Amino acid sequence: MEKGKLYVVGFGPGSFDHITARAVEALQESDLIIGYKTYVDLIRGLLTKQTVVSTGMTEEVSRAQEAVKQAELGKKVAVISSGDSGVYGMAGLMYEVLIEKGWTEATGVEIEVVPGISAINSCASLLGAPIMHDSCTISLSDHLTPWDLIAKRVEAAAQADFVIALYNPRSGRRTRQIVETQRILLKYRSPDTPVGLVKSAYRDRQSVIMTTLSEMLNHEIGMLTTVVIGNSSTFFYDNKMITPRGYQRKYTLGSEKQPLKPHQRLRKEAEPWSLESMSSIDEQITTEVVEKAPTIDLPFQKVSSLDMALQALSMIDGDEEELGEKAITYVQQKIESIFELAVSPGVANKQFTTKQMTTLVEVVGEKGTMEYTPNHQIVLRIPTSDPETVTSKLSNAGFLLSPIGDVLTVKACDFCDGEKTDAIPYAEEIQRTLGGLSLPKELTVGINGCGMACYKAVMDDIGIVFRKGKFDLFLGAKPVGRTAHPGQPVAEGIPPEQIIDKVTAIIEEYKEKAHPNERLFKYFKRVKEIQGYKYQDMAPKIEIEPAPCGD
Ligand code: SAH
Repeated sequence: MEKGKLYVVGFGPGSFDHITARAVEALQESDLIIGYKTYVDLIRGLLTKQTVVSTGMTEEVSRAQEAVKQAELGKKVAVISSGDSGVYGMAGLMYEVLIEKGWTEATGVEIEVVPGISAINSCASLLGAPIMHDSCTISLSDHLTPWDLIAKRVEAAAQADFVIALYNPRSGRRTRQIVETQRILLKYRSPDTPVGLVKSAYRDRQSVIMTTLSEMLNHEIGMLTTVVIGNSSTFFYDNKMITPRGYQRKYTLGSEKQPLKPHQRLRKEAEPWSLESMSSIDEQITTEVVEKAPTIDLPFQKVSSLDMALQALSMIDGDEEELGEKAITYVQQKIESIFELAVSPGVANKQFTTKQMTTLVEVVGEKGTMEYTPNHQIVLRIPTSDPETVTSKLSNAGFLLSPIGDVLTVKACDFCDGEKTDAIPYAEEIQRTLGGLSLPKELTVGINGCGMACYKAVMDDIGIVFRKGKFDLFLGAKPVGRTAHPGQPVAEGIPPEQIIDKVTAIIEEYKEKAHPNERLFKYFKRVKEIQGYKYQDMAPKIEIEPAPCGD
């Protein structure tokens, strides 16, 4: 008699493009294919002469027993699972059935587990790159696992900031599990946490939905859905869900958390959380328990569907008191990031007060840094999980706060300590309306209070010089390098009431039309005209060898 063999085959998400060559081989070598009917139908196109035994969903144990029996009779038998057979599939059950019969590798029937692409991976590929970092799968099916244990795993995964793929999230009868899971997750993660819902990945009725933790229950979730919950760093970009490779990121004012640029990573100061640089682990990642009244008053803004979730639960349980109790404690995970911002005493004011200096010492602490820059600003880099407290302390001390990076910076002279005050309101207005605006490349607007222009406004990307009650405008300076040159005088005697509009129009055009990383002088040179101001070549007339920094 021929020797039988058991194949336990994961055929991947469902399309023939995503099944492994070995899986196809195993199916085709088999005499008998045993599986759940829907799955058999998905791979039927790959079969030739094989006998097919398809059964209902719940008949897994009899499927496994039948497979073992047939293999022992000398047949080659493939037991199939979708995805990977070792992930909530048939592989474990096959071994359980064999072990019950006293099977060993040496004496028993041959078995080969053929790996496949599991839903966590196929679904992730359709969402972008949401898994990327430490992740886990949790099946919400409580048929074979006590709900309490599943809830504990959700809680632990949420607490430890794992990316989570929820399998078996919901079925016709099991509808509460996903609601309860959302409630647990919201204790640890922001309601805005990105969530991807992938149904029937790589199958005919594939659907991909990007939503958030608070909104996810407003979408269809069923037996064929995998729910991917992002970690605290996961973000959406251009309809893709992306988890960065690590936690290296920074905040700056007025913008979302942003990843550090590649060259900024792997620096010690960018890793305040590493074991190496830590004084005590507890200090770095603090878990803050916030006591709240039972009314749904979350420490974040959007609460709508948590509300709904709790209401739904209370309707099922009819026990509002217990639910109220559960809703009291919110535990927020705090992870430090580098908070970068620039401070100065004011646009025209160059004088620091002692309160400002002591506030700097307090907020920067021992772990942060302060760097004085040519823009009359001090750049602060502070490891913190709470940028709002830092900004409120600095604002209370009377500092002007600015974001840093590719933004608009206003740099004004001291107007001779206020004697030449006429232009100060215009400088402050430009700071108020345009300061911190994010742009294709960093841009400085220099404003000088008199024709002396001793703060060198003409060397800034946009130079504005106040003279005899009116403004002169300079555009297109090349502020650095051996071929640095001042901006061109493009207009003289602009009436004060027009200056803000003119500068705004220039900035708007540049923001909209310049290439990424294109500085204003390069843009001016390329397009030859900005808002009616014509470009003239200001480059030196002799050839100058380029000499980048360090040469
Ligand atoms: N062995 C399978 C998992 C079986 S459990 C694997 O490794 O993928 C069944 C659950 O898997 C479903 O409820 C769903 O959450 C997920 N799943 C399986 N195939 C899927 C697909 N093509 N698209 C989305 N989710 C899928």
